[in-house]
Amino acid sequence: MKRKNAAKEKPVACTSCRRADAVVRLEYSGLDLCARCFCKLFERRVAKANRDFSMLRRGDRIAVAISGGKDSAAMLHALDKMARRFGEITLVPILVDEGIRGYRDEAKKKAKELCRMHGYKLTEVSFAGLSKNTLDEIIKKRDKSTDAQFRSQRACTICGVLRRHLINKAAKKAGANKVAIGHNADDTGQTFLMNFLRADADGATRFSPVSDFDAEGGVVPRIKPLIYLPERECAYYCELKGLPYYLGGCPYSKEAFRGIVKDFLNDAEGKYPGVKFNVLKSYFRLNRELAGRYKQQAGICKKCGTRSSGQVCRACSLLEKISRTR
Ligand code: SF4
Ligand code: ZN
Ligand code: ZN
Repeated sequence: MKRKNAAKEKPVACTSCRRADAVVRLEYSGLDLCARCFCKLFERRVAKANRDFSMLRRGDRIAVAISGGKDSAAMLHALDKMARRFGEITLVPILVDEGIRGYRDEAKKKAKELCRMHGYKLTEVSFAGLSKNTLDEIIKKRDKSTDAQFRSQRACTICGVLRRHLINKAAKKAGANKVAIGHNADDTGQTFLMNFLRADADGATRFSPVSDFDAEGGVVPRIKPLIYLPERECAYYCELKGLPYYLGGCPYSKEAFRGIVKDFLNDAEGKYPGVKFNVLKSYFRLNRELAGRYKQQAGICKKCGTRSSGQVCRACSLLEKISRTR
């Protein structure tokens, strides 16, 4: 990994320890950091998220959603370190195989390697196991469906709904009381802005770094330990720690509105370093002020028994449409 700044030829001393050469430049803060100081800063931010939102407790059994990508690799490594330090915390890595040809198989290899490295057994669940169809097959069905609502759903929406449903199911089966998700600061800023751009102010503030720790309605509470970490820094952390991760992109990401918002934020950050953190700060501020205002109706899905705003949850309704389409 190269330190990105003007003085490429001449080594720059680490701003923090002054002893080692810097390998990472953080434009938004003006810091040049050596590998050791950068990794310490990364882990301090995970620890801060834990403190700010009381994510971990002794006795927790945490299902860790692993994708094979950089975010979940960085999350598993950092959580593993914290769990060992705290004691009495068990991590259960879970991977969802959506069934995306040429993408998930490669990522899965890296996820397995990562778990082996840390001494964990990876639990695998799949869309095919849940719906008898891979995501590739579901998308084909969507495209020829006569159900206008099904046909209008983007691949990422379908994928997100089913993935959440599967992880929750697998977490319950594993006896987990929490699910750790590798959403980083960029993901949070993007989700906030996407909802805002869709004029969905409720959606922009409804999601949070931790869901309420009340597992009523069969939904295992979710925690996001990387909420303060920019995406790029998750990749740096993986590189510096030698963690295996898959870099390839999902073929469906081009369908996603998220990609447009992501490009916009990356461009803005390049020109005005710190913009992404400003979006994150705005999100936290609104989330705090509006907390509780958009409480979901506490219905229960009559099919799967999880919390739902309607009689049938989004996942069960989607599964019904998939099985109805030939
Ligand atoms: Fe699923 Fe979309 Fe992510 Fe691909 S890009 S894995 S379809 S959410
Ligand atoms: Zn240093
Ligand atoms: Zn349901």
